[in-house]
Amino acid sequence: MTKIEQPFLKNALAGVMALEPYSPGMPIDELQRRLGLSDVIKLASNENPLGPSPKVKAALAEHAASGNVSLYPDGGGFRLKKKIAEFHGIEAERITLGNGSNDLLEFIARVFLGPGRKALFSEYCFAVYPLATLAQNAEAIVAKALPPDHPTMPYGHDLDALAAALTPDVSVVMIANPNNPTGTWAKPAALEAFIAKVPAQTIVVLDEAYIEYLDPASKPDSRAWLDRYPNLVITRTFSKTYGLAGLRAGYALSHPSVADLLNRVRQPFNLNMLALLAAEVALGDQEHVAKAVALNKSEMSRLIGEMKALGLSVLPSQANFITINFHREAAPIHKGLLERGVIVRPMGSYGMPTYLRTSIGTVAENTRFLVALKEVLAA
Ligand SMILES: *Cc1c(COP(=O)(O)O)cnc(C)c1O
Repeated sequence: MTKIEQPFLKNALAGVMALEPYSPGMPIDELQRRLGLSDVIKLASNENPLGPSPKVKAALAEHAASGNVSLYPDGGGFRLKKKIAEFHGIEAERITLGNGSNDLLEFIARVFLGPGRKALFSEYCFAVYPLATLAQNAEAIVAKALPPDHPTMPYGHDLDALAAALTPDVSVVMIANPNNPTGTWAKPAALEAFIAKVPAQTIVVLDEAYIEYLDPASKPDSRAWLDRYPNLVITRTFSKTYGLAGLRAGYALSHPSVADLLNRVRQPFNLNMLALLAAEVALGDQEHVAKAVALNKSEMSRLIGEMKALGLSVLPSQANFITINFHREAAPIHKGLLERGVIVRPMGSYGMPTYLRTSIGTVAENTRFLVALKEVLAA
């Protein structure tokens, strides 16, 4: 069926017509269907290989047994907000809950972007930033990233280039620290110096989806920045270290007047009752988070060692994935891994065709990835 001819398409927003839909990591059952494989592992979406906390599993099981799904969830998210407020030492009126942190990025775009508005971000940033911008028919300004041959942070966000692009008419600037798909990060002092340069009328979004994986020395006290910069919005997610990607829960911390605006565009029940419950219990189990971070650290150094031994280079990462340079077209390697039941993320859509990104899995998953990769490279 051809879509181009349909007259209503000329009424679609130009930004939406121009956008490339987000391509998620391939689901396990899709590869199983496609290639008739039964034993598939997914290292493509930076999920927690340990799954959620056992306490979350118990709470979900108990809820499932009660069968209570007929009542609407608490649209205000009172209990979860209370837990988040205690965890960060922040007032509940400064919290916005999201159906994943992706939801929050869209609220920010809906409130602050639109035709004639500008959003700023870096090359090799999270793909959702340009998507949320174009969906609002706003203009995307892309600052150059640090160059591929940069001595310490190749492909990283160039905070000087971002600052140079900060004209007063930029409504929103978005930065992920650490960044996805690169794993690169910014030092706390440099990041704060950048935030201090952002004009007071420009919202600065600090996306901390991977914050728990940062070394203590690189981890900013971004919560304290909120008191100094009323235009700062910090986003956090339960999808990564907390292991709740399938349930969809995230939150933003901001000035109360920003939170008020974001909450106005939120659908009234954007978090379902299981997501609310699981997030509340997950936040209370920081031991599980520490376990995931420790596994990630040891397995990342093992994988990096193996990549070096194979003559491959890896971008510096303080997230739960590594982005590997094969120094040649990586699509055939991606295909070879799929044929062996290993799903990783191709990077062509990010303009990095010689790279693949692999999430750090369990010890067994990583070993399986290594065995498959060595087979593909030897073929
Ligand atoms: C995974 C990720 C998120 C989180 O997405 P959710 O919607 O919370 O699952 C946000 N930002 C970045 C950079 C990510 O990689």
